[in-house]
Amino acid sequence: MTDITNQLKEVLLPPIMTVGDFAQALNVPVARAITELMRNGVMATINEQIDFDTAAIIGSELGFEVKPKDVVEAEIPVKAKLAKGEGELRPPVVAVMGHVDHGKTSLLDAIRSADVASGEAGGITQHIGAYQVKRKDRLITFLDTPGHEAFSAVRAHGARITDVAIIVVAADDGVKPQTKEAIRFVREAGVQMVVAINKVDKEGADTNRVKQELSELELVPEEWGGKTVVVEVSAKSGQNIEQLLDMVLLVADLEDLRARFDGLSDGVVIESHVESGRGPVATVLVGNGELNIGDVIVSGATYGKIRSLQDWRGRRIKAATPGTPVVVAGLKTVPAFGDPFHEVADERQAKVDTMASQRNSAVKSMLGVKKIGLEELQNAITAGKVKELNIVLKADVQGSLETLQDSLGALRNDEVGVKIVQSGLGDISESDITAAKTAGAMLLGFNVGIAATVKQLAIRENIKVQLYKVIYELLDDIRGVLSSMLAPEVVETTHATLEILGVFKVTPGKVICGGKVTSGKVEPNQQVKITHAKAEVGRGRLSSLQKNKQAAKEVLEGEECGLSVDTHAAIELGDMLEFFTTAEHARTL
Ligand code: GDP
Repeated sequence: MTDITNQLKEVLLPPIMTVGDFAQALNVPVARAITELMRNGVMATINEQIDFDTAAIIGSELGFEVKPKDVVEAEIPVKAKLAKGEGELRPPVVAVMGHVDHGKTSLLDAIRSADVASGEAGGITQHIGAYQVKRKDRLITFLDTPGHEAFSAVRAHGARITDVAIIVVAADDGVKPQTKEAIRFVREAGVQMVVAINKVDKEGADTNRVKQELSELELVPEEWGGKTVVVEVSAKSGQNIEQLLDMVLLVADLEDLRARFDGLSDGVVIESHVESGRGPVATVLVGNGELNIGDVIVSGATYGKIRSLQDWRGRRIKAATPGTPVVVAGLKTVPAFGDPFHEVADERQAKVDTMASQRNSAVKSMLGVKKIGLEELQNAITAGKVKELNIVLKADVQGSLETLQDSLGALRNDEVGVKIVQSGLGDISESDITAAKTAGAMLLGFNVGIAATVKQLAIRENIKVQLYKVIYELLDDIRGVLSSMLAPEVVETTHATLEILGVFKVTPGKVICGGKVTSGKVEPNQQVKITHAKAEVGRGRLSSLQKNKQAAKEVLEGEECGLSVDTHAAIELGDMLEFFTTAEHARTL
């Protein structure tokens, strides 16, 4: 039968859909849709998802005019904000941040064991991503994961896990780039801060210098009349750990930290893994409500009925309240770090919410790939002299991507910097490789994967792909690359000065003269700075040195000598020469 109308049938499709939904919308058999996709090079089964562009091409080949359907963002319940004074006080949640090796892990251990010593804890301590200690009858929750990640997760969802950040600075090393970065994160997140100057027991500890450096960052210690709470501690000896906890409670109290303790719970995932015999296991931090065994929760693309709850000491508990980290078993799959969770009435509702969340994240990841904007390009061009490291950046969630964009953007000085030529969410794809090749860029992936075929393409195209799971490591590596792009610092060392007592012969490029060393030691091959009435008039190189008409290896203060200086500058009677050498020092960003 021939189609007597030339009119294409119109169909409205969402940004992303399964092959099954696509076939249904077009009212064609699924097998037909799959065949047509295959003919266009797309291998997809009934439950796999295709994007709108693909659907539009296949649709038009099947005789349809495909138009985008307006997507209504699925509603994910968000926790209700509490009015001031409502709810009950909850424990503050604290993250520890700072430069590598300044003692973050040691401090977390010291705090934990200080509490063990006080007889509060018993049994096995396990690392579940967080723990709690008691100080003056109040609980404090410490995040056991590096603070950076906790912060990215926060930004990913516009929520805030951390109430107080402890910035650790080693007393013998001072403020370092990662310290500054951590401070920036904390400031941007609007989180309270306590500075712990650690390693005060160490030789070379200089707390005053650290305080000076902090003051330069507008973190003036209280004892110097400023507002920054600074505690001098030693994670090694345990000195002042209790005082640090007191200060944490003090600054936490500035925040009236309240939560709703009853009703449906919500919170955020701070750790997750699969455990043999138990399946997916996640540590969640309860934000509101009470989480009980048997509750049904939804987190990102997964859901489940809670089979067991354990506190950070591994003890089985029946319920967890706000501010408490708790290990839950019973989810269908592993949720992602930083995913919020919320409790629902039953599994039916859980399925509905999970689907909505899946659709949302799929849509977001499809829309996530963005080309470099005109403005950014313009800035790069006007920046002109800056040597830029081109980067294509992929991350798993929007929050991490933004954090990385910000942190990479901050890695610059007036010589080198990073240019993100393309960024997006999801695994590294062929188009990322193409973009990296076109821009001569490095390809960085954070918490994302790369399919074998894409990897092969990267190898063939000679594109450097680096995958990371820790933000610090990614930033450190890039800082290293940028440092290697910096022109080395040239350091001049002056060895001697000499007064010119006679000029004997001037030929183009060379002056033969004599003089008296007024300080230091002149040696052959040193470089020469010529100064006339204290102003530098030129430079040159000492090509021969004579004492008593004999070649000399050195001429000391008070001695006279003959010199041959390779220079185009004029040397006159009474001029002073300065002799120096230069050394190149690698610089770091
Ligand atoms: P992180 O990279 O910030 O987690 O640092 P670590 O906690 O791993 O500590 C780095 C190094 O510093 C380790 O060798 C620790 O033993 C040492 N360290 C940490 N705190 C102290 C301290 O208070 N005093 C001394 N002397 N050494 C410390």
